[in-house]
Amino acid sequence: MKKRSLIKGIGWGVLYLFLTVAPLFVMLVSPAPGQREFWRELSVSFGFVGLSMMALQFVLTARFQWLKSPYGSDVVYLFHRQISIVAFLLIISHPILLFVFSPSTVSLLNIFTAPWRARAAVVSVLALLGLIGFSIWRKTLKLDYYTWRIWHGIFAILAVGMALIHIELVGYYLNTPWKKILWLVYAVFWIGLLLYTRLLKPLWIMKRPYIVVDVQEERGNAWTITLKPDGHQGLRFHPGQFAWINVRSSPFSEKEHPFSFSSSSENTETISFTIKALGDFTKTIKDISVGERVYVDGPYGSFSIDNHAHAKAFMFIAGGVGITPMMSMLRALSDRQDSRPLTLIYANRDWESITFREELESLKRTLNLNVVHVLEQPPHGWNGKTGYINRDLLEGLLPSGIQKNDLEIFICGPIPMMNAVDGILGSMKFWPGDYHSERFDLV
Ligand SMILES: Cc1cc2nc3c(=O)[nH]c(=O)nc-3n(C[C@H](O)[C@H](O)[C@H](O)COP(=O)(O)OP(=O)(O)OC[C@H]3O[C@@H](n4cnc5c(N)ncnc54)[C@H](O)[C@@H]3O)c2cc1C
Repeated sequence: MKKRSLIKGIGWGVLYLFLTVAPLFVMLVSPAPGQREFWRELSVSFGFVGLSMMALQFVLTARFQWLKSPYGSDVVYLFHRQISIVAFLLIISHPILLFVFSPSTVSLLNIFTAPWRARAAVVSVLALLGLIGFSIWRKTLKLDYYTWRIWHGIFAILAVGMALIHIELVGYYLNTPWKKILWLVYAVFWIGLLLYTRLLKPLWIMKRPYIVVDVQEERGNAWTITLKPDGHQGLRFHPGQFAWINVRSSPFSEKEHPFSFSSSSENTETISFTIKALGDFTKTIKDISVGERVYVDGPYGSFSIDNHAHAKAFMFIAGGVGITPMMSMLRALSDRQDSRPLTLIYANRDWESITFREELESLKRTLNLNVVHVLEQPPHGWNGKTGYINRDLLEGLLPSGIQKNDLEIFICGPIPMMNAVDGILGSMKFWPGDYHSERFDLV
């Protein structure tokens, strides 16, 4: 599985690079429209490559599981964020180079007198500035997540759409019919993708609703909601994966939230999510009533034991509500009567707030499971681990002489904990392909 995933990952990477530079081939292929200065061609090629990258962002965020599976959703979102900056710098270099080498072109910024091709370019760049600015300073600007998502979509469509109109109106590199066709295919693909993500997919999700059959309070200010498919077969997932759920709103709205499945993947009747009441939406989970309709878009992610079936043992490192994907994996392993050695290192503030505390104890009876609780504020007389998960603790629990691929480690919890554990495992020269993390802060 790992090798196949690696080959797939490299394959997508190569295709991404090819599509990014594809417009340059169109530029170079003869017949060239005519000789122009080097700096002008350079500025245009920066613009083309930047635009390609921007358009490909729609593919990255379209939630194609087949595309994300070799990397994991968090890696794809991280790439999406970083590559946006590169694309922005390339696109902005296009007008800057023009202004520097041909100062008279600055007059094109005046949208009252400029031709339409320049107006389209100005709107595209302004939308791009809005896109980047709102994303970097969302929290500083106190923009709530939903408003940000709506603007993010509008700015992205405007930036790419206006840039395509700009290319069409300039028409310089559309000097032969087949070049025109190539750009048309590009535009049609882009519009098709938008139609799929904004119309077809929400429609499909709407036709497959779920009904809430149980809402249960858990330790640690969390609530488990259990859903049953309403009039369809439901979905199958791998333990550890997640889905986007929509409560009291349609799949067309932006009001969806990602949550890991906490139920066993072996249960084909119902699915459960365990949600910690932390913010505006999650605090309302406890008010959901049995019988309410919920929409589920998933499964997504590659954070799963099923991607590492070869492993001789598994270790789970969880903090707080980061237990949810681990719980799904442990429940599935129990249902499958798996006898491999399992270790769960579970960090919490105190003994009372340990979500699934009792069930973890009972899972020890069906699984070969060692649970190590780490408490920040231990109760009086506690003789277990205290403080935070650190190097000493991990070294003490990791078996010596582990070979590559023998032990697979899954990490999920608060960001400082995940960064610390990633760093410790890296510095212990643990094989990077053998430890996996799920980050709950995608945006
Ligand atoms: C892959 C994945 C799996 C997750 N699994 C679980 C889980 O099993 N249990 C659990 O309790 N939490 C889980 N989360 C976290 C959960 O999605 C967020 O805590 C929740 O969406 C925050 O919403 P809120 O309105 O309550 O919080 P708010 O306080 O309003 O928002 C807090 C922050 O959460 C983020 N956020 C808000 N809304 C969304 C949204 N619609 N989509 C994405 N991020 C958002 C934003 O960065 C925001 O600033 C998971 C997150 C991810 C990415």
